Amino acid sequence: MPTDQAPEGATSPDAKPRLSFAVPVPKGKAPRHLADLDLAGRKAVLKDAGLPAFRADQLSRHYFTRFTRDAQDMTDLPASQREQLAAELLPDLIHEVRALRADGGRTIKHLWELHDGVRVESVLMRYKDRTTLCVSSQAGCGMACPFCATGQMGLTRNLSTGEIIEQVRHAAQVSERGDLTGGPARLSNVVFMGMGEPMINYKNVVAALRRLTSPAPEGFGMSARGITVSTVGLVPLIRKLSTEGMPVTLAVSLHAPDDELRDELIPINSKWKVGELLDAAYDYYSTTGRRVSIEYALIKDMNDHAWRAQLLADELNARGRGWAHVNPIPLNPTPGSIWTCSEPDVQELFVDTLRRAGITTTVRDTRGSDIDGACGQLATEVLNQERARTRR
Ligand code: SF4
Repeated sequence: MPTDQAPEGATSPDAKPRLSFAVPVPKGKAPRHLADLDLAGRKAVLKDAGLPAFRADQLSRHYFTRFTRDAQDMTDLPASQREQLAAELLPDLIHEVRALRADGGRTIKHLWELHDGVRVESVLMRYKDRTTLCVSSQAGCGMACPFCATGQMGLTRNLSTGEIIEQVRHAAQVSERGDLTGGPARLSNVVFMGMGEPMINYKNVVAALRRLTSPAPEGFGMSARGITVSTVGLVPLIRKLSTEGMPVTLAVSLHAPDDELRDELIPINSKWKVGELLDAAYDYYSTTGRRVSIEYALIKDMNDHAWRAQLLADELNARGRGWAHVNPIPLNPTPGSIWTCSEPDVQELFVDTLRRAGITTTVRDTRGSDIDGACGQLATEVLNQERARTRR
């Protein structure tokens, strides 16, 4: 059975982060941003400010197709109105605290500070056939998974739609500019696998999905096929997401196929069990036609047994063939943690067992492991450095 390290700032070594569905009330709302609103809403804001409503269309195109929020770049807008238009709908929402490059410049990890001083991370990764951004949907997380650095922080607050979309707009801009090794690239994929449990911030995340998939001037016009929403298993919201009319990929962070272990690894399993979760995931596939990803962090001696691979395959095959794809992920260890990645031969046997049972399986590459790649690690590291500096 796993035991846990004490969370950040704990007063007792036995302290554990607790599962919480409560979303703390933020200290002041994030400034209103164009991406929080649909086009009609943006027009209404400009009209109320005494500005021509049709400028919302131009402003939105600059933002979603040229990836800029700088009024000086918007030369088709009257010079006398540019600053005021941008001030109404394009406030500065995220500030770069740190940017770290890894994998020969094909990965860039950002730490952002938001208007109230809270910090979140995003990771931009270039692959041969795609460029992917991993975004945060919350500051911290209330799901308390013991092996996850973000889980140790607890939840600070939900991100607004604008704060989520600003991470994407920035990534699209730096990709297009050629900041990643290999020259200019088009941001093709967005995965909600950064800090937070996206389903707890359901309303803002669904609005962000609409901005990602709607064509300009409403949004970026990305393909829903390139977008993945990851969850630890809020079953009613998985069912709700399947009715939103956006066939994004659902990724289920399963990490254990049996309730006995999953109750320990993923505290939300105390509410929705493995069987209920896989039923909801299968129904998501049936409704949307999108194959579900099953995420499985391989943790040494914890969940990496061949019998568990067989049990996982049996659970998936019992519901149908070809509806799920398993991604074993070598764990990115949290510094100072007992949670560590499986031995290579154990990982190989786990993968072979799944494949022999007819389950499509791809070991995920762990990008950025040399830059505190797992979500929450960079924020924790920077915070610790700042605390150490203040103590000196
Ligand atoms: S693994 Fe995901 S859901 Fe669990 S604590 Fe970390 S961020 Fe939250």
